[in-house]
Amino acid sequence: MTKTAICAGSFDPPTDGHINIIERGLKIFDKLIVAVAVNTSKNSIFTSEERVAMLSEIFKNHKNVEIDSFAGLLVGYAKKRSIYTILRGLRSAGDYEYESQLVLANKTLDPEIEIIYMMTEGKYAHLRSSVIKEIISFGGSGCGMIHPTVETKLKEKFGNKKI
Ligand code: ADP
Repeated sequence: MTKTAICAGSFDPPTDGHINIIERGLKIFDKLIVAVAVNTSKNSIFTSEERVAMLSEIFKNHKNVEIDSFAGLLVGYAKKRSIYTILRGLRSAGDYEYESQLVLANKTLDPEIEIIYMMTEGKYAHLRSSVIKEIISFGGSGCGMIHPTVETKLKEKFGNKKI
């Protein structure tokens, strides 16, 4: 039996922290569906199509990674795909607070859902999409934090392609 999990998030943009969770997740699961959330309350810099395109480029050589997007509730998407295991990453106590609410809400909506957490590797503990956006917007380098594809796309967004 193939073990598949959904790795859901905003990925606005994907960082090396996300990539690390997905790559490590592949040691546990046979297949991962990386699902980009379309309707988040967050103000996204990238459209869902752009986020899907970046993730597709990053994982183009991984046959066992599928990139998809979903609108609405994660439980609805899980049901549609008949996959009830969700993989998420944890960085800090702050993440824990937020994620424990997410688990309870999702479990209330659908008790079949199981959300599995992987602790971040130390060097990614500080990495979050919002910090990356700020660094690149001020002309900094994303080296060691984001995939070159993501850096190029971010620089295009901020119009500072020459740095
Ligand atoms: P969301 O808006 O759903 O929180 P994110 O794209 O911010 O989506 O994050 C998706 C998942 O990836 C979350 O579980 C988040 O905790 C995890 N994540 C984000 N950055 C890192 C990181 N640097 N290390 C480990 N996990 C991370």
